Amino acid sequence: MDLKSKHAAPVLTDPVPVSKSRLGISSLLSYSSPGAAFPSGLYLTIPRKKPVPGKLDDVRAAGWLDAMKASSPPRKKLTKDFNIEITSEDNDVAYSSWMIKYPSALTSFENIMNYAKGKRIALFLDYDGTLSPIVDDPDRAFMSNAMRIAVRDAAEYFPTAIISGRSRDMVYEFVGLTELYYAGSHGMDIMGPVRDLACADDHPNCIRSTDKQGKEVNLFQPASEFLPMIDEVFRTLVENTKGIKGTKVENHKFCASVHYRNVDEKNWPAVAQCVHDVLKDYPRLRLTHGRKVLEVRPVIDWDKGKAVEFLLESLGLGNSEDVLPIYVGDDRTDEDAFKVLREGQRGYGILVSSVPKESNAFYSLRDPSEVMDFLKLLVEWKKSKKGKGAL
Ligand SMILES: [Mg+2]
Repeated sequence: MDLKSKHAAPVLTDPVPVSKSRLGISSLLSYSSPGAAFPSGLYLTIPRKKPVPGKLDDVRAAGWLDAMKASSPPRKKLTKDFNIEITSEDNDVAYSSWMIKYPSALTSFENIMNYAKGKRIALFLDYDGTLSPIVDDPDRAFMSNAMRIAVRDAAEYFPTAIISGRSRDMVYEFVGLTELYYAGSHGMDIMGPVRDLACADDHPNCIRSTDKQGKEVNLFQPASEFLPMIDEVFRTLVENTKGIKGTKVENHKFCASVHYRNVDEKNWPAVAQCVHDVLKDYPRLRLTHGRKVLEVRPVIDWDKGKAVEFLLESLGLGNSEDVLPIYVGDDRTDEDAFKVLREGQRGYGILVSSVPKESNAFYSLRDPSEVMDFLKLLVEWKKSKKGKGAL
């Protein structure tokens, strides 16, 4: 089916309709796919101000642009765009009522710890926006030294893993602590010390390796067969987005990321179109939206939630009766992990957000500085237990 026509604004341009789902578009949007959720022809009635040469309707029809905007909410509401006055007090009220559903993990700390009695806490931490502030240049998303110390102290008492969309190497470089487990590329690239991280025979993608210090580690890479493909896509994306000012393409090994936070919004359609065009040739890859970033990932049943489950099992913490996993993250990719913990009634997701948003998390923290406070409280709590001989 090819709905691209010479006369009307095209709706779908992929020759194979199944490509809608294989591109992962359906999972990005609140509706399943344009064709399925809206009466056919809806897009044909949308007046276009100016016909754009090329095929920008691909990305419009697929909802990419809406998703790009939706996945990049402004930090603060731009009141000048509205004819109503939104005071900071209004925002505070909205945030406060949102917190009834997602209470602060700081003020609810005692409740969380009551539940943790007799259990081993396992900590899972996202990196960007959780341990480090979101900044314009992703290469400079450094965590503060105070945060590094807080994470290191926490890792002394609790098994701690960093689960990031970045490549494992990059997140390791930023965090720089050897005592942690690292899961890069949304959990598709997991590394842990051999002594702790079991590498069972039933995980065919688990291999013995050495880290940068020459220490023996176990690597688990459920999508290793995709490595050459992602590399090829990365190089094509770099080439094809060259002309769009502000675009930054990164190779995260299991995921190629196209950052558009520094791209003028009027050029977002061009960015989306570039990615769309490349993806069309790779039915085994799909698109996901992060914060001002388009990410091309393998179609594989693996996400941060699966990574949490894998790590818990591998660390011998799969028994949910004795273990309380706590996952702290700010991104929509973290929702998979929140969901695993919520649905299995296994532990708590904590969403880091300064604006109200729906989540599968149980609790909230406003920003990375509150994450740091939470980690410190955890350590103090553990120390006080230790002091009482309660370990
Ligand atoms: Mg994040």
